Amino acid sequence: MVDLGSGVYAYLHSDNGWGHSNAGIVVGNGSSLLVDTQYTLPMTRALIAAMDDVGIPPVAAVVNTHANGDHCWGNELFPDAEVIASAATAESMPHDFPPALMKALLSDERQSTAAGRYTRLHFSAFDFSDITVTVPTRSFTGSLDLDVGGRAVELLEVGPAHSEGDVIVHVADAGVVLAGDILFADHPVMWAGPLENWIAACDRILETGATRIVPGHGPVVGPEGVTAFRGYLEHINRGIADGFQRGLPYWQTAAELPLGPHEHLALPERLVATTAAAYRHLGAPPVPPPEILERMAVAFFDAPARQLMASHD
Ligand SMILES: [Zn+2]
Repeated sequence: MVDLGSGVYAYLHSDNGWGHSNAGIVVGNGSSLLVDTQYTLPMTRALIAAMDDVGIPPVAAVVNTHANGDHCWGNELFPDAEVIASAATAESMPHDFPPALMKALLSDERQSTAAGRYTRLHFSAFDFSDITVTVPTRSFTGSLDLDVGGRAVELLEVGPAHSEGDVIVHVADAGVVLAGDILFADHPVMWAGPLENWIAACDRILETGATRIVPGHGPVVGPEGVTAFRGYLEHINRGIADGFQRGLPYWQTAAELPLGPHEHLALPERLVATTAAAYRHLGAPPVPPPEILERMAVAFFDAPARQLMASHD
């Protein structure tokens, strides 16, 4: 738990990988706003304990920045709070890689596939037991102004980008943006897109003038961190368009994409999913999610050079 000053906290993980998502807390007079829960019930209980340790007042509202489980599967542990998300997030939440699917992927009979081995490697530490996906009680489109114990907090819908309904949370009086998965420390994964929307979302963060931005995964950064990430998105956007024009399949474009200054980032296999989503916007037919996962896993196990570099981060 990191105190950002001005009554805003960031709950961060040292592991930037799959499933370890940051949360944010905005403290008002007698009540607070929680931005994103955690992937599992034990992880969310640990978040609640950390909030209690620093004396956070009762959570009156939870904002889910998007529908991925690592940002919302702890919702049920806040039964007295309003749960707020964009309408697109509220719609997609029940279908987004449900907990039962995660458990099935982790089951023994799936270990013969690359996807099964990949899932085991990256997700077996998570306990998906007893999760009841708990959907928002309030949704909006565009923007929503909230009063958090006398403080103005602005929710801005910037998706579809990382997901169908991404929202960023602007706490103007603290100069903070809680960016959800609009910002990653390592390779991001794009499920929705297009990349142009994601680049515009970065501009939206920069336009707020915030000095501290909390990503969905990774450490708190200043505006220069957003600018660098925006540069990454522009870089891969050019590379993906080039591969598409050359008629390469999406997984080959992802594998051969020159990364230049972004070569050191971890989880490069995520480029497979991002490229598949970007190809769809360029006119290619959609790829079924199980195929994307398998291709991503194959890229991981077939790319020891990139992985070895990334694992030293
Ligand atoms: Zn995430």
